Amino acid sequence: MEITSVGIVGAGQMGNGIAHVFAQAGFEVLMTDISGDALSRAMKLIERNMARQVSREKITQDAMDAAMARIATTTTLTDLGACDLIIEAATERETVKQAIFEDLVPHLQPHTILTSNTSSISITRLATRTDRPERFMGFHFMNPVPVMQLVELIRGIATDEATYKTLLGVVEKLGKTAASAEDFPAFIVNRILVPMINEAVYTLYEGVGSVESIDRSLKLGANHPMGPLELADFIGLDTCLAIMNVLHDGLADTKYRPCPLLVKYVEAGWLGRKTQRGFYDYRGDTPVPTR
Ligand code: NAD
Repeated sequence: MEITSVGIVGAGQMGNGIAHVFAQAGFEVLMTDISGDALSRAMKLIERNMARQVSREKITQDAMDAAMARIATTTTLTDLGACDLIIEAATERETVKQAIFEDLVPHLQPHTILTSNTSSISITRLATRTDRPERFMGFHFMNPVPVMQLVELIRGIATDEATYKTLLGVVEKLGKTAASAEDFPAFIVNRILVPMINEAVYTLYEGVGSVESIDRSLKLGANHPMGPLELADFIGLDTCLAIMNVLHDGLADTKYRPCPLLVKYVEAGWLGRKTQRGFYDYRGDTPVPTR
């Protein structure tokens, strides 16, 4: 099946990046959010990120103009019903995602494929909220989407082969690389990455190291491009906590206990870069550790 139009639900960190890469690859993109402000912020960000690609001579001005012209926005979720492929990239909360799929289903075309960019929630369970579990998949992009090469493809128990093959083709058209994961909590990347971040927060909580020494240790001692706390701020501490909770609930193993300090930061609304404060304070010119 050929996909030409893509509907994106949620214009946050991931939604804007997903819109960016699909528009550049020639797909017609319609993006929605409950917040009109989020939509205008996302469009400005996409424009700024594409302008940077132009200034680095990665794309031409004409290519940027054509890609920008392929992105439209709406605050009415059901407008997305006409799209061939839906990518849900709203807040990492199961009830939010369930409500989105339930509202969308009566407006979809029969052939539309539904996907979620969830970092951790069961694809099989989300699929049961729709009329088409065989055309439902996990489509997990990495942050920042225009930069990161990998897309995780997660088949639910009912996903059919044609849907999987169609999405493999879409990943190829985007110029990215797919890795397939089974539908178990947090799939592959986050099953490994987020417990490491949680362990870094425990290391801070127990006073083994400061924010700076923990990040420096993993950068220079393990050759990680970013320290784990810096990375946590980049992902969003609410998202990290949500993933730990899914691992803890879904695998019932105490090794996935979210660190109380991570919970505290989320309670404070210090969610990382997106709120300008997390393990670092981003309000000045250079990030300053908050502990
Ligand atoms: P975010 O908080 O930046 O953005 C979420 C957006 O969803 C917000 O703009 C919010 O207004 C919108 N939203 C909430 N409810 C909605 C609804 N009912 N309808 C439409 N829009 C709604 O979050 P994010 O980091 O972009 O994460 C989005 C999804 O992508 C999550 O499922 C997350 O797990 C996943 N993800 C995140 C990362 C990451 O590094 N941040 C990486 C891969 C996947």
